[in-house]
Amino acid sequence: MQQQIKAVAFDLDGTLVDSALNFAAICQEIGWPAGTPLLEQLAITTDATSYQRAFDIIYQHEMAGAALATWMPGAEQCLQALAEQGIPIALLTRNMRQATDLTMQRLNMQIELVVTRDEFAAKPDPAGLLHIAQQMQIAPEHILYVGDYVYDLQAAKNAGMPSCLYLNDNNQHFSEQATWTIAHFDQLTANLTRR
Ligand SMILES: [Mg+2]
Repeated sequence: MQQQIKAVAFDLDGTLVDSALNFAAICQEIGWPAGTPLLEQLAITTDATSYQRAFDIIYQHEMAGAALATWMPGAEQCLQALAEQGIPIALLTRNMRQATDLTMQRLNMQIELVVTRDEFAAKPDPAGLLHIAQQMQIAPEHILYVGDYVYDLQAAKNAGMPSCLYLNDNNQHFSEQATWTIAHFDQLTANLTRR
């Protein structure tokens, strides 16, 4: 892995941090069927009152999640190890900027290049990852995108980047779409910092 990877971009919720975001509860509160993709459904909600109500519920859940977020095991150490090796890192999230900033401040997360849905089209659109590649001046094929959901893998593929799926109890069926999988961040740290 480490020979072709020159930089690493990470997803936030469910990857670097456990924000305990309960997407099923958000759907239920809004009145959408469980599993509805929130941002995509919001984008096609044309009634102004319905839009504002759904927006507010999503906002409240994201801010509450940011206030409770904790590091995933080994994730903070992974970022430190990459920084020590001089490997550039970035963050791409479907979260909004305000909740992302709150999460990062609370956890003292040291990433300068941060892209949220407020700046670019949300994953699986590759726009955010392509912006990261451009800012880093590194070819997409040399940037690894690490995430926990199928949107992450699709966004990476759409951007021409290899992907790494951070496994949990609910996402193993996406493994075939990932370039690599890890069950713990220590595996990523070892793979990327081995000399
Ligand atoms: Mg995620």
